[in-house]
Amino acid sequence: MPERALAHRIMDEVDRSFDEQTRVLADLVRFPSRRGEEARAQDFMSRLYREHDLAVDRWKIEIDDIKHLRGFSPVSISYEDAWNCVGAFRPSAPKGRSLILNGHIDVVPEGPHEMWSSPPFEPRIKDGWMYGRGAGDMKAGLIGNLYALLALRRLGLVPQAEIFFQSVIEEECTGNGALACLQRGYRADAALIPEPTGHAFVRAQVGVMWFQVRVTGHPVHVYKADAGSNAIESAFRLIEALRKLELVWNERRHKDPWFHDHHHPINFNVGKIAGGDWASSVPAWCEFDMRVGLYPEQELAAARAEIEQAIRDAARADPFLGNSPPAIVYNGFQAEGFVLKNAGHVEAVLAQAHRTVFGEALGEQRSTGTTDARFFGLYADIPALVYGPRSDDIHGFDEKVELESVRRITQATALFIADWCGVA
Ligand code: ZN
Repeated sequence: MPERALAHRIMDEVDRSFDEQTRVLADLVRFPSRRGEEARAQDFMSRLYREHDLAVDRWKIEIDDIKHLRGFSPVSISYEDAWNCVGAFRPSAPKGRSLILNGHIDVVPEGPHEMWSSPPFEPRIKDGWMYGRGAGDMKAGLIGNLYALLALRRLGLVPQAEIFFQSVIEEECTGNGALACLQRGYRADAALIPEPTGHAFVRAQVGVMWFQVRVTGHPVHVYKADAGSNAIESAFRLIEALRKLELVWNERRHKDPWFHDHHHPINFNVGKIAGGDWASSVPAWCEFDMRVGLYPEQELAAARAEIEQAIRDAARADPFLGNSPPAIVYNGFQAEGFVLKNAGHVEAVLAQAHRTVFGEALGEQRSTGTTDARFFGLYADIPALVYGPRSDDIHGFDEKVELESVRRITQATALFIADWCGVA
């Protein structure tokens, strides 16, 4: 740990730049960096990294480069405009421990704007919180990473090891952005991801799987509806069967080493549904998209087998579906769960930085969502800490991040860099 006086100078320096940091964060929130629309926000990050003398690597993700790698998730969209961006800080004679500071720039759809109190991509500050889609998840962390370094450099301190600032896409749907960073060769002695955890670090995270169920029906005129088969109503029955599987999986929590005391670790979600063409025709088709959670120890293949069995059993009970079974398509997340283990040293460095800033012990969390940490931990043997600011209503309306919390997380990150990488 930097000695006390130095730690305080570093924290003061973060404070001094915090108005600037907040302005830059607002500028980034203005970009509607939904999936497939991240390129302009990535241009912004490239410019920002370059302005602050980082060596910028901005590249287009090619599915062919990563599709054979463990952790790859299949996609149905085009990667024509799918850009990753990394800013590298490289000291002239590296001798400390290197670090990856990762964050994702993609945001989830904002939903109907009239349900927001103010437009989602026009950031505003009220009562110490910044509102906007992506403000908390996780542009505050992405910008905080850079300002942690700037605080050190503005004090004339030079980190003694390489630091890679990664701004990745695809975190909210596949993780292929973080995977592409691994494929490109980025490695370090630790990784830190400031997802909005409310100042705790993530010990364990569930796996996440996406799939789409495509249901067919037998279309007839409604006057003889009983001669047809209604694909939308069939879909309801399949969803019910999957909900029962959700109950079964949650019952297994008692045996799970990480989630046994969680009241409901496994969440299934019907996130999208579409079907039918006409109110007076029995619908011929229905498609719905599910997201399911998995225990860290649950194998993806075994989970798929159970899901398929549940759908098959439900279809068999139906006279039409028995002969025209629904199709299941796996696109998007095929994400294994992840538990941070054997990372005592890096955890201790973070715990010390946290204590210096917050005056209390670092808490840990078991997360019922996924993060990109799994790529570093599972596929590259890099201890990955997920630790970031307090936010609220992410993926909902009026997403917001608490600025005081962002300031303190930036301070803790700066202290973490100083201790982990060393400074001269
Ligand atoms: Zn996130």
